[in-house]
Amino acid sequence: MKDRSMTASERQPLLEIMGINKSFGDLQILKACSLNVRSRETMVIIGPSGSGKSTLLRCINLLEPADDGNIFFEGNDIARELRRAPEIRRQIGMVFQNFELFQHLTAIENIMLAPMKVLGMSRSDAHDVAMDLLKKVRIPERADFFPDELSGGQQQRIAIARALAMKPKLMLYDEPTSALDPEMIREVLDVMAELSSEGMTSIVVTHEMGFAKRAADQIVFMENGEVIENASRDAFFGGTVNERATRFLDQIL
Ligand code: ADP
Ligand code: MG
Repeated sequence: MKDRSMTASERQPLLEIMGINKSFGDLQILKACSLNVRSRETMVIIGPSGSGKSTLLRCINLLEPADDGNIFFEGNDIARELRRAPEIRRQIGMVFQNFELFQHLTAIENIMLAPMKVLGMSRSDAHDVAMDLLKKVRIPERADFFPDELSGGQQQRIAIARALAMKPKLMLYDEPTSALDPEMIREVLDVMAELSSEGMTSIVVTHEMGFAKRAADQIVFMENGEVIENASRDAFFGGTVNERATRFLDQIL
């Protein structure tokens, strides 16, 4: 018998993507993409610009409907459940390259907003939750600063805290450090790696291979809208990967 400590819900993938296609006009952007992410796992997705990585995340989050195929989230096909999108998005946090914070709100207000508006939490409860999250992302002293008074690395950590405030079951990160100055990349990746090690199920589009080495359970290589390689971290860094993935890695490392 395998690992008896796992519950049924942990054995079943949290997210199961089966053969999704997505076109914009005549251009097919995603081609029969299939991926599984189990609860507590971190998947890193790499691949050239234009290969469909952001589109894939946007389909998972229902910001774009997939044309066909299935996206099972906790066993339910959400691929075209656009009516349920707000409810599903509550359970899937997303962090973007350019932070996308509300500029007219302070750091802590950015984090408090959704718990109050969407979950109906009281102001004082939302404040407590936000303060704990500010500690978690290691900038409690910046609670009352506005986004334009914060560094890029600090803004991105606020964006992560804001996503976590909804207690998501899955976090999606779309190139979260690619708009940052090099000295700030580490502070953001450290927070993400800590969350992963604590069991936050995550899909991370990034070319930070140091992060992948530290935090990824699976590494996926996409090219031209296709999943070309999907390997465990050990297989991937052990060199038993597809030749196109290897060539891509040689370019970015
Ligand atoms: P990546 O994140 O890997 O760089 P994207 O998913 O952003 O790739 O984009 C893949 C392709 O899809 C690109 O050629 C892009 O121009 C195209 N694309 C993305 N979103 C749209 C859209 N809303 N309408 C038309 N084309 C789009
Ligand atoms: Mg992208």
